Amino acid sequence: MKIVRVETNPLFYRLQSPYGDANGIKNYRSIFLFRIFTSSGYSGWGEIVDWLPTLEKGFQDRVIPYLIGKNANDRSQLVKTISQWHQRSASGVSMALLEIFAQSVNRSICDLWGGAMHKQIPLYASFQSYTEDPDWMNLSYRRVLEAVKQGFSSCKVKIGGKKLADDHTHIHMLMTKLDCCIGIILDANQSYDVATAKGWERIFREDSRFLWFEEPLSTDHVYSYQDLRRFMSIAIAGGENLQNAQAFTPFLMHSALDIIQPDINHHESIDQFRTTMELARTFGVRVSPHSFDGPLSRLYSAFALACMSAANKMRGSDIELLEWDCMENPLNDFLALEVVNGELSIPTGIGIGCEINTEVLEKYRWDGQIY
Ligand code: MG
Repeated sequence: MKIVRVETNPLFYRLQSPYGDANGIKNYRSIFLFRIFTSSGYSGWGEIVDWLPTLEKGFQDRVIPYLIGKNANDRSQLVKTISQWHQRSASGVSMALLEIFAQSVNRSICDLWGGAMHKQIPLYASFQSYTEDPDWMNLSYRRVLEAVKQGFSSCKVKIGGKKLADDHTHIHMLMTKLDCCIGIILDANQSYDVATAKGWERIFREDSRFLWFEEPLSTDHVYSYQDLRRFMSIAIAGGENLQNAQAFTPFLMHSALDIIQPDINHHESIDQFRTTMELARTFGVRVSPHSFDGPLSRLYSAFALACMSAANKMRGSDIELLEWDCMENPLNDFLALEVVNGELSIPTGIGIGCEINTEVLEKYRWDGQIY
């Protein structure tokens, strides 16, 4: 089963209303989708989220010439080689080659991993709370309220990018106005020192609806996380930028995180990503994949969760929440996935098992200009 062709689909969308987090305001969203075709007629999709000009050139000059003529079943070796050039490209290629294999044996991705133990994956609505609008707090509230109306019972909002008093006001306003049953995640994107992070404990202690405190500190400091975790009354989560199981191990060895958050895009491959996911079970902590960027990466994260053993015996919370991008981003429509009442039904068809929206590929194709 030789690789005969690779088709690239760089997609770009300029936001009508820029939004962001403690890392800054985003003006656009982009994904680099590609499809690998084989001599047997099977094909698979891969996805990368990175700078499109570099990805397109890297694929045309190096990745595609390397892949053409290779055996698509040699996934491990092909991905290993590409990861030495560009880690994110390797991860995307691993998705495409896995899908090709699934198609060639007429099975779903979950079948390859032993079958889906969870048919539904609970989602949390993920928001980028900051905008350039002076009324950003009320905009944030209206977005969260809309998600609640759509059936989401858990939401993530951002802190850490404004003055502390403004963030406190924002969160206090949300907690006061929102329904009693909503679970709220606060994500600081590594903005604080330990003392400042501890200042949030007073707010967490007053309200049982906070689900977790995400990346309050730089993940360079394992011992600071250990200190904070012992102090805080709610779960501490993090690790979206860590690249493999080895990088997560110190946090687990030192009981520094309650929930690990690996991201497929930041791992060498889908296989390495699953190794990290399973590490959570080994250490008896929860795993909630970071999946804000890219619909295909998000779907693979859902597959990985679906095939994991239960996190605990509590009814209704036996598998962890998955992040769901609820901001303005039409690129997410690339995959026809239906969310009902804040849950995703795992596709059961061959390969990734869901339809591709080719209109998205045409409508948002990047024009080749530097942005
Ligand atoms: Mg985060």
